[in-house]
Amino acid sequence: MLVELFKGFYLAGRHVYRAVFKNGMVTVQYPEVRRSQPVFFRGRHRLQRYADGLERCVGCALCAAVCPSEAIYLEAKENQPENRVSPGERYAEIYQIHLLRCIFCGFCEEACPEEAIVMGPVYELASDRRTDFISQKDDMLDPPEKGFGDYHVYDPYISHVTPESDKEAKADPWALSS
Ligand code: SF4
Ligand code: SF4
Repeated sequence: MLVELFKGFYLAGRHVYRAVFKNGMVTVQYPEVRRSQPVFFRGRHRLQRYADGLERCVGCALCAAVCPSEAIYLEAKENQPENRVSPGERYAEIYQIHLLRCIFCGFCEEACPEEAIVMGPVYELASDRRTDFISQKDDMLDPPEKGFGDYHVYDPYISHVTPESDKEAKADPWALSS
């Protein structure tokens, strides 16, 4: 009995020692401090823009077709010369994701040929209003002033697509997954 007791003290003491003297603290002061997420973390969806401000989404609906939860709804519209929204023929006029249906599988970002829809590092999804769980296009779309940036920085609006990775992905879509 006493042996087991001292074993327990030893174990607890070892953890305290590591935490205090060996930089082993695992507690973060959330929400002031947030852990950075790995590159392929699948958090809240974002719709990205090109550096010139055009939307990457061309309204092809591949993301909606591949979604196993049928969580994506979009309506595409033709671009007009006087109102060009994306580089393609069309753009998504309406783009919604039902977050209560979404299982965060990442198939939509895998299927997107334009790297338009991506899943970012934001994991805070709680709300007490049901309507907050229908993500609208404006909720997801990067602000126009945000260009290419460092994905690891905690900023939900910074793009992780660099001009170089964009060229690589267009030349060989499998290059980024290998
Ligand atoms: S992450 Fe999966 S379930 Fe969620 S919208 Fe994308 S494809 Fe659908
Ligand atoms: S997000 Fe990508 S896959 Fe979905 S409609 Fe836009 S371009 Fe197509």
